[in-house]
Amino acid sequence: MGLNRKITRFATASPEAIADAAACLRAGGLAAIPTETVYGLAADATSDTAVAAIYAAARPADRVILATGEPLTADFIVAGVGVRPNTQLAQSAGLTIDNGIVVDESLRTSVDGIYAAGDVAHYPDRFTDNKIRVEHWVAAGRQGQTVARNILGTRTPHTAPPFFWSAHYDVTIAYVGNGAGHDRVEIHGSLNDRRALAVYRKGSNLMAVAAIGLDRESLLIEKAMEEGDRDAIEAVIAGV
Ligand SMILES: Cc1cc2nc3c(=O)[nH]c(=O)nc-3n(C[C@H](O)[C@H](O)[C@H](O)COP(=O)(O)OP(=O)(O)OC[C@H]3O[C@@H](n4cnc5c(N)ncnc54)[C@H](O)[C@@H]3O)c2cc1C
Repeated sequence: MGLNRKITRFATASPEAIADAAACLRAGGLAAIPTETVYGLAADATSDTAVAAIYAAARPADRVILATGEPLTADFIVAGVGVRPNTQLAQSAGLTIDNGIVVDESLRTSVDGIYAAGDVAHYPDRFTDNKIRVEHWVAAGRQGQTVARNILGTRTPHTAPPFFWSAHYDVTIAYVGNGAGHDRVEIHGSLNDRRALAVYRKGSNLMAVAAIGLDRESLLIEKAMEEGDRDAIEAVIAGV
């Protein structure tokens, strides 16, 4: 891939990890083109990095044309285009919509007897006190459980903090909480040793923690977040 000031290298994998990943993909019947480095282009629709056209079929190299007319070549292109909640049905049913379906802490919508869970739900997050909408697999399942309890009449607030994990070559990240609006990130432990916590704070308020190689700590933090026990979270972080 041609280098350009707008392109950022964001991942480099070990040769072993690349070989493992390629073998897994081939075993699943998928074509795998091992590449040592992944580059990313943050294409903002309002800036000169906006993408005007993609010529993915033009071999040997794919081409991206920026809004400025500047061409970029790539070995292959992965497009991350984002998603939008589908709220049409909810809207026509008269539910309050604002960045998804608005629900209270028990995941009840503005219309009695109707609940919302998962990607579509815009809910008050107990730990950060923010109104959030998250797109995480585990969070969607846990919200479904909260809704089920409430339908059964238990009046249960949703206390589970958002959680996802994601594997990048041989590095797995476990993220708990919601860091939207954070103004700093502290690293505890060693990124080089791949045993670290990235702590997202707004002022002194902890909002979220991303863990690499520290699954036990991540689970302890998740439990403490659910219980609203900030001291316990800080104790886990201090022990890393
Ligand atoms: C490419 C991709 C990668 C992802 N990777 C990760 C990841 O690594 N980790 C992670 O935690 N999360 C990941 N996610 C997010 C995760 O998949 C979602 O958070 C999760 O699936 C949300 O579940 P949900 O039930 O809320 O919504 P969905 O899984 O979207 O289910 C909603 C369903 O409702 C249906 N529907 C919508 N409107 C109507 C209607 N009017 N009538 C009938 N049916 C309707 C839809 O067709 C759909 O089947 C990823 C998502 C995508 C798209």
